[in-house]
Amino acid sequence: MTANDANSIRVRFAPSPTGYLHIGGARTVLFNWLVARRASGTFVLRIEDTDRTRHIEDSVQKICDDLRWLGLDWDEGPEVGGDVGPYFQSERLAIYNEHLQRLLESGDAYYAFETPAELDAMREAAKTAKSNISYARPDPLPTVEEGVAAKAAGTKVVVRFKMPGTDITVVDDILGEVTLAADQLEDFIIQKGDGFPTYHFACVADDALMKITHVLRGQEHLMNTPKHVAMQRALGFDTPHYAHMPVIFNMDGSKMSKRDKEKAIKRGEAPPEIDVHDFRLAGYLPEAVLNFIALLGWSPGEDRERFALDEMTSLFSIERVGKTNAKFDRDKLVAFNTDWATRASSERLLAAFKDYLSVNESSLCGADDAALARALKASEGFRTFPDVVKKTGFLFKADDAIAYDAKAVKKVLAKNDGAGYAMLEHLLPKLEALPDFSADAIEALLAATCEEREAKLGQVAQPIRVAITGSTVSPSIHESLEWLGKGATLARIGRCLAHRG
Ligand code: GLU
Repeated sequence: MTANDANSIRVRFAPSPTGYLHIGGARTVLFNWLVARRASGTFVLRIEDTDRTRHIEDSVQKICDDLRWLGLDWDEGPEVGGDVGPYFQSERLAIYNEHLQRLLESGDAYYAFETPAELDAMREAAKTAKSNISYARPDPLPTVEEGVAAKAAGTKVVVRFKMPGTDITVVDDILGEVTLAADQLEDFIIQKGDGFPTYHFACVADDALMKITHVLRGQEHLMNTPKHVAMQRALGFDTPHYAHMPVIFNMDGSKMSKRDKEKAIKRGEAPPEIDVHDFRLAGYLPEAVLNFIALLGWSPGEDRERFALDEMTSLFSIERVGKTNAKFDRDKLVAFNTDWATRASSERLLAAFKDYLSVNESSLCGADDAALARALKASEGFRTFPDVVKKTGFLFKADDAIAYDAKAVKKVLAKNDGAGYAMLEHLLPKLEALPDFSADAIEALLAATCEEREAKLGQVAQPIRVAITGSTVSPSIHESLEWLGKGATLARIGRCLAHRG
């Protein structure tokens, strides 16, 4: 860092690589990113991978991909480097050990050797005594020499932080002053038996060493913060600003969590989107997702709700983040998506659609841009991209790959002694004879047929729709036929008639 940067804002997002980025995590990233960008500060991405048991291969890649999809870049971290790295905690063990040593030497930390059975007994005793603290600090404390000797003898040894025994007050930029009483704060592990630091210790060391000025994280971390403050004091580190963001709830009042997916599957329901990647797969635009998650706890204080990232950047402030729980209203997200898709430029929409098709490995992937753009145009006002595929997917299929929906066949073609089939037989030569297979010419032909047969448009159009799409859903029938072209239209009608049971 140069001298000029000395007072600039530095924030971080510190995910543990345990899978895809959760939508709540994305909200944390967004708020941090907005704080950094608004203040021309620095946004750091730090990977908290010291819990080797929870590490999932490829997670970092996935998290980076999700951030890129959202359009949230980072100034320091994986792939980009920076002056205060490494940015993977697993590569910082020597740094943690150095600071851990300082705590051991000053007596603010000590080696501990309790077995799991002893710890269980302590927990039981605390329950009986109705005490908030389950770990009973050994008296006298083991000396450093005893710890080192025990380690050398192969005993599983951890290091605990010695809480100061005073109440600790955290000044939170959203919640105000939050005090945790001394009798709620027990000595906790800062180095595990495997030699890795715990989250608490690594996080405090890195926030200080990476010169983080503002820590914005979810309220679920609030009870950790007094521990962090105690360690900062013992280590002589500055305490950064803290801001704990409201918890995100489902509409039914339950806390939104990764487990919601398993719960839904158990109930035999489709799993809800929870990870950022789920929303990408489900055909949402990142602009809509960002706009929606920005409002999970933040409001700019005006009626307007639709914001692009640059507008949010100029409006965002921590002071306008609320204390109360945020509700994840999926209907609202869909409405945002429709709105964003309707307002997007055709180039942007096409690029987003192609991304959707590609992540879903859709058979439409190879289709040419003009055809995809036409499909988007024909589906204007759609909710999410699957609607576009549902409505216009027939255009991209091989003629002999159309599968007829049994209900549609029964209702539209077979009913009334096969009136729909008869209509197709009537129309086939007329369509074949059309010299100009344009939407206008087709519309005129269908209108004339309605008149001649004293039929409603539905009686004429729906049989064709079933024949060319297999279902009763498509954009306007005239346009559908023009896009499909004469050859495919005739082939599909012929095939449908041949399938007549
Ligand atoms: N690795 C922690 C998590 O994923 C970071 C929490 C923090 O921001 O301090 O929850």
